[in-house]
Amino acid sequence: MSRILLKRKAVKSNSLVLTFDDGPGSRLTPAIMDLLAEHNAKATFFLLGRRIAGREEIVQRIATEGHDICSHGYDHLDYWRVSPLRTVKDIKRGWQAIDAAMETKRGKYPFRPPNGRLNIISLLYLLLCRVSIVYWSVDLGDTLKMERCSERIALAAKRAGGVVSLAHDFDRSDKNTEKLVLESTRIALATAKANGMTVLTYSQLRSCRKSSRINECVGNHS
Ligand SMILES: [Zn+2]
Repeated sequence: MSRILLKRKAVKSNSLVLTFDDGPGSRLTPAIMDLLAEHNAKATFFLLGRRIAGREEIVQRIATEGHDICSHGYDHLDYWRVSPLRTVKDIKRGWQAIDAAMETKRGKYPFRPPNGRLNIISLLYLLLCRVSIVYWSVDLGDTLKMERCSERIALAAKRAGGVVSLAHDFDRSDKNTEKLVLESTRIALATAKANGMTVLTYSQLRSCRKSSRINECVGNHS
């Protein structure tokens, strides 16, 4: 789903889609899931294949608790700087890592390009595989300072539309940054509540038909 279409759907359904990239993290991903459970909210995790080994139970927990599992490739390559063949291999390897952790053979998962960049070959490959390419509309700025993070959420709230937010759940050496991710998620959830927004996963947002009401979107979640 293109960036514009995704944002339009989120705005139309007045929803917040929380997405987390570059995990799973041993500490942060479970902490985020605990926070989400407190708010009875679901999120979407774009897993990085190389971080999965040794964290299979966390991947399984993501699925068990009803969050969406998507892929962010295997090695976080810059798809504009490496050979197209290598990028296709990276996409496949990312999917295989998720399948191995889930002990399944689903084969394909919605994909978010590392750094938001695709080359023409990887784009064509994903289109041929009929895989959704998922971007975001608001970067929560969890790699920045807290003030910037709050500013961005406040701006999104002011728009009072839908938001597909981006944050990162990999473990940091700096514990303060991990706290920042949790705090930004908490603020995003409070912002959604204050603005009457519904928190959806990516697959729930995708299943929203043009004319459908939000309850139908949630009901269509698979
Ligand atoms: Zn990333």
